[in-house]
Amino acid sequence: MNWLDSARQLSRAVSQQGLSLFLSQGCAVCDRPQHQTFCPDCQAQLQDLVRDFKGWTPRNEHPLLIGALAPYSGTIKQALRALKYEYRPDVGRALGMALGQQWMARRTLTTRSGPLYALPIPLHRHRQMQRGYNQAELIAQSFCQASGLPLLPQGLIRTEDTLPQYQLGLKARQKNLKDAFQVGQSLQRLEKRLGAAPRVLLVDDIYTTGTTAKSAADVLRRSHIRVVGMVAVARAIADDNKHAK
Ligand SMILES: [Zn+2]
Repeated sequence: MNWLDSARQLSRAVSQQGLSLFLSQGCAVCDRPQHQTFCPDCQAQLQDLVRDFKGWTPRNEHPLLIGALAPYSGTIKQALRALKYEYRPDVGRALGMALGQQWMARRTLTTRSGPLYALPIPLHRHRQMQRGYNQAELIAQSFCQASGLPLLPQGLIRTEDTLPQYQLGLKARQKNLKDAFQVGQSLQRLEKRLGAAPRVLLVDDIYTTGTTAKSAADVLRRSHIRVVGMVAVARAIADDNKHAK
């Protein structure tokens, strides 16, 4: 075999491997070979969930929650699991985009009282390193692309590597998150630049009891940051609380 043949063979092997890697990605929910994040069936199921969910109706029983895209069940639950545990950053981008579009469609809040910054709920750096990204930040990035809101990454820092919330009861959840957050330098710098405390909107993947939202908002409000509320991709519905965070 001359050098040209081996070069051709190598290039064929690389392109075949590249192709199989590409195809092996699969639909994030059902794993069917797919070039996009979701196959047409799963995409349709997601759209049905979003369409039928009254996640934007103001409800007093969900402290701080402004809106969620879908219930934490079925297809959306599987998609969020793929995002968190199967290294599928594309899921975060797709769902963040959908959340941003919903935000725009609802015209939830005006920006009359100054700019509103989207602030993703942080992960502790150890967990972020394990996962490869912070899923809430990926969601917030494309949420901002769709909504036009400015992104404030690392406005909060997670100082404690807390236990996953779903492993705990309500009392333990509150204790688990006590002092888990602190205001990040990016937020301090922004405040300096604006000459006033900015308004922020928290962004997360799942909203369960509001413990995480409240804990983050408490820390921010102690620093006189105005927290308007939270948006999340999914809201846990009563029977699913034990699986969510
Ligand atoms: Zn699918």
